[in-house]
Amino acid sequence: MVKNLSFSYSKMGMYQECPQKYKFRYVHMLPEQPKSYFAFGTALHEVMEYIYNPANAAFPTLAQALDYFEKYWNKTSFEQKGYASAEKELAGYAEGRRIIEAYYAKYAASFFHPLSVEMKSTLEMDGLSLISILDRIDYLGDGKIKILDYKTGKAVPNTPEQLYMYQKIAENSPTVKALVQKQDPAAKELRVGQLSFYHLPTLEEVTFERVPDKEIFTFWQRVLQVADNIRAGKFDPTPGENQCRWCDYRNLCPVFTGKDYDPLGAKTAPRPAAVPPAPEPASEQDALSQKIDRCGALLEEAKHLQQEIIALMRKNHFERHFGKQFKAELSRVEKLEFTDKEKVVELLRTLKLLAKVLVPTQSTVAGLLADASVPAQAKAQLQAFARKTEEEKLNIEKAD
Ligand code: SF4
Repeated sequence: MVKNLSFSYSKMGMYQECPQKYKFRYVHMLPEQPKSYFAFGTALHEVMEYIYNPANAAFPTLAQALDYFEKYWNKTSFEQKGYASAEKELAGYAEGRRIIEAYYAKYAASFFHPLSVEMKSTLEMDGLSLISILDRIDYLGDGKIKILDYKTGKAVPNTPEQLYMYQKIAENSPTVKALVQKQDPAAKELRVGQLSFYHLPTLEEVTFERVPDKEIFTFWQRVLQVADNIRAGKFDPTPGENQCRWCDYRNLCPVFTGKDYDPLGAKTAPRPAAVPPAPEPASEQDALSQKIDRCGALLEEAKHLQQEIIALMRKNHFERHFGKQFKAELSRVEKLEFTDKEKVVELLRTLKLLAKVLVPTQSTVAGLLADASVPAQAKAQLQAFARKTEEEKLNIEKAD
């Protein structure tokens, strides 16, 4: 049996923006850099879920909502959130607090329990495995629902297409149907009555009536066409000034490198999983243990990243390459390798040089050859056991 294609509105959006970008993200599974606007939006969605959670009889006070926001916000560092600095992260935090306070001032007196909040679902339909998160569903009575999508960016999208997708999903979802029937056993048919984008920064709502079936049909044909293109492996890049400037895959993209991306060439070893945010420590010792584990995991990830960077630079014959903030330089350094360790130690003993190295390792013995106090004849004898090798050295530093 052919597996359904895992699909969502955001995946479709990325494919429409640039099929090559979709390929990097969902075929090669290369993660994107963290983005501060995603972290900010996710934190506010968390707070809205906390406020409206139907499992709680009472609604949280403003102080509780702010406290919840603060705890969630502090689970990750500014780098993990994608902010450029701690100051910018602080400004994001202050803006989040401002929005929550304004939301309470406007709505706290009229809070009510919606049908569901942050409903995550996967619906199998037309060869697709449709993944969605419906931010809030309100019951309007008579089997009708309102789907509300929170927005936290500068403005709401200028097309309600995302809501078309949600209407299609909700009206075909057994989970939403069951929720409606539980709330209103007399309801005969589940239908979307209203759709809306709710812009949290301005507390403004843009509402749409149910989208007629004919428009949904046309939209759905476009969705299926995108899915067909993905299945057919159509991933030609569609470069554009805006999308390329902010694209995380620019350094791998054939439009910029002039070569097809070869995932095998970039792979040296399986990459460790991304380091997840640590839970709240119970004590200072716990905090220390967490920091040690976290640091170890980050170092491991950095090591794998370095291997991947070296492989890619070698493959593309790059000696230097630039990211948005850092540059990488690959150089070859000569190294001496002493092969017969026992004979070298014996020679050092004879030459009375053993005390100089304390522990004879490859680098301490090589250091003797550069030591001005070691006689030239002794150096020549040592040199006879040395073999010259070359190793690649990767240096990453802030770009000027
Ligand atoms: S750099 Fe531009 S063309 Fe290349 S994947 Fe990104 S958006 Fe597409």
